[in-house]
Amino acid sequence: MVRSSSPTRRELVTGSLAAGAVAALPSAACAADTVLDDASNLNATPVARHIVVKAGDEARTIENLRRELKDAAASNRPVAMGAARHSMGGQSLARQGTVFTFEAPRCEVDRAANLYRAGAGARWHDVIKVLDPLGLSPKVLQANNDFGVASTFSVNAHGWPVPYGPFGSTVRAFRLMLADGTIVRCARDENRELFRHVMGGYGLFGIILDLDVEMVPNTMLQPTSEPLPANTFGVRFPAVCADPSVKMAYGRLDVSRGEFFESAMITAYRPVAASGGKLPPAGSGGGVMSYLSREIYRAEVGSDWGKQFRWFMETTVGPYMDSGPVTRNSLLNWPASRLAESSSKRTDILHEYFVPPASFPAFLKACQEVIPKSGIDLLNVTLRFIEPDAESILAYAPTRRISAVMSFSQARTAEADTGMERMTRELIERIIAIGGSFYLPYRLHARPEQVTRTYPAVADFVACKRRYDPRLLFRNTLWDKWLAEPFKEKN
Ligand SMILES: Cc1cc2nc3c(=O)[nH]c(=O)nc-3n(C[C@H](O)[C@H](O)[C@H](O)COP(=O)(O)OP(=O)(O)OC[C@H]3O[C@@H](n4cnc5c(N)ncnc54)[C@H](O)[C@@H]3O)c2cc1C
Repeated sequence: MVRSSSPTRRELVTGSLAAGAVAALPSAACAADTVLDDASNLNATPVARHIVVKAGDEARTIENLRRELKDAAASNRPVAMGAARHSMGGQSLARQGTVFTFEAPRCEVDRAANLYRAGAGARWHDVIKVLDPLGLSPKVLQANNDFGVASTFSVNAHGWPVPYGPFGSTVRAFRLMLADGTIVRCARDENRELFRHVMGGYGLFGIILDLDVEMVPNTMLQPTSEPLPANTFGVRFPAVCADPSVKMAYGRLDVSRGEFFESAMITAYRPVAASGGKLPPAGSGGGVMSYLSREIYRAEVGSDWGKQFRWFMETTVGPYMDSGPVTRNSLLNWPASRLAESSSKRTDILHEYFVPPASFPAFLKACQEVIPKSGIDLLNVTLRFIEPDAESILAYAPTRRISAVMSFSQARTAEADTGMERMTRELIERIIAIGGSFYLPYRLHARPEQVTRTYPAVADFVACKRRYDPRLLFRNTLWDKWLAEPFKEKN
């Protein structure tokens, strides 16, 4: 979400990402009154310089990035990076800082190595566009196709293909520009410490230039749906995801008032032969949610009837209307904008919690006791299965987890935000008590000590950041709010 940053005010650094036209405006073109926001629409942040990195000659891009880092360091300005800015707490923003937006859509396939190389600005729809005609598909990505690949690594996002851990587990290597402009290659056998800290490191170690990522064959998949009582989900869902014939799977929970978190549904996808042996091209937004139209989804806002109707459609009508086979890439090629709030008075706020399967009934109870009494409008819960992540330092799934992605509708007022903060803190407390964790790319409502209790390695993470970036050039709102003060260096 880029606000009040008209093209005439953007400076285009020559993009690292593909051959093409080079455009670079003088630095004065970036006015001091540039304001950027993120997907929350609650983080309007004035920045000193906003630089959009477009496609162009790689050597010039690198030279310009280095110059910008040097300039920011000389002026004692923080530097932050972003792509689609769907994080919701200023993780991609730095007040009065130098802020990069990576946009160039580079993606190249190396069949022999079974990987693709994606530039920092490539979005998932760019990657699918390249892989799909070759019969290939990304191994892991989030539910939507509009996010950046480097940012996906920086939050270590997860998706609903099974059986996989978070995205980082599918990345073989990446190139990183450090605060002093040095470029290092990071992999499991090269600069391993950086590899593990940058994975889910929220841009605090440097600028990712590109990544080498594993891929799988695209396939035709057939969905089956299974309604079940929510309190059996923690046993049934891991069993479904452990079935080797299942390639993608998700669950949902009923959020209507009378049945709040009482009923669940599992949808699993298994391979079938493509008609005529040929896969159709990836659509955008077909398959899994094609029946769940924007109208049905948005009718849930402020309406229990809308929530009941949506659940009825999803569990009763939807599976029959949408039961045909669909390709893996079509399922993954779904834009977030399709369901997004369009009113300027409200915003959709996400939460996400990761709970051990055995704690799932306790998770349901915690949500039933905390969410309805808060009065905050919960529109949707999607459930996923995540294999353990033993690599990233800030791992949210150190053991197998069921993830619950919750989408709330919130008024864009300070009062509503305070209510959301109160509820978030209470819910996090309950989730920590049952051995679960919460996700970091959303609102920064958690108390800093809740971050520390959920992510025990956070002190090591900060110490390592200070070693690689001693002048703290790379900073964003997440750093300022959660990490700067609690881990302040003592002189
Ligand atoms: C509707 C919606 C659905 C979502 N679904 C899922 C889901 O299914 N699974 C899931 O795991 N998450 C999900 N998320 C969260 C999402 O994955 C993160 O917010 C992610 O960061 C979005 O990508 P982005 O391009 O918008 O990142 P941005 O918000 O632009 O950036 C995120 C972070 O990456 C860093 N970064 C960006 N580019 C670089 C770079 N070149 N070098 C170094 N650091 C960089 C930024 O500094 C920032 O800290 C969802 C979010 C929304 C709004």
